[in-house]
Amino acid sequence: MPAADVQEMFVRLRELDPHPTTELEYSTPFELLVAVILSAQATDVGVNRATRRLYPLANTPQAILDLGEEGLRKHIATIGLFNAKAKNVIATCRILVDRHGGEVPHDRDALEALPGVGRKTANVVLNTAFGEPTMAVDTHIFRVANRTGLAPGKDVRAVEDALLRRVPAEFLHDAHHWLILHGRYVCKARKPDCPQCVVRDLCRYRDKTVD
Ligand code: SF4
Repeated sequence: MPAADVQEMFVRLRELDPHPTTELEYSTPFELLVAVILSAQATDVGVNRATRRLYPLANTPQAILDLGEEGLRKHIATIGLFNAKAKNVIATCRILVDRHGGEVPHDRDALEALPGVGRKTANVVLNTAFGEPTMAVDTHIFRVANRTGLAPGKDVRAVEDALLRRVPAEFLHDAHHWLILHGRYVCKARKPDCPQCVVRDLCRYRDKTVD
């Protein structure tokens, strides 16, 4: 996709949603970190339902350690893979208390060293909690970047690097939210909603839907 079309694509996505953010509910970097860990292979709606009950009781690393793994499990039992996630959240809380003064570190390597935190989760936290222009490529962004021709790549890291090169600086901070929302609600996996798509004329996808 030519640079002028990339610019135009983000101008239009910004017009639709000038201040995009994550659909996960959080009020501190720690709440965001835990919500993102819990959201792997789960819906944001399901995670929010659980954290709305959990965070009023425990929303710091020490408070979650005090709940214990069994206590935490009860609060997140409606979320897929909750056993493994409970283990990871407890281990993460332990490291945050022991090595980071109970705070979420503003540092990629330190974030990726936390159990349950990979590059994508670190990118979400760096972007959404700390304002860095990182690109957390999930399944939606991967699909949109490839279909549209915006930033094609054979794996998520290739797409992340391509997006960081191609997205104009003024859109970098919010780009991943716009692309996730576009992929989730318009450029859907099975049947993209091309007739309703605001970037239809810019998109290079060959199999656009017509109804
Ligand atoms: S035109 Fe279709 S394939 Fe292209 S971005 Fe829009 S919804 Fe996706």
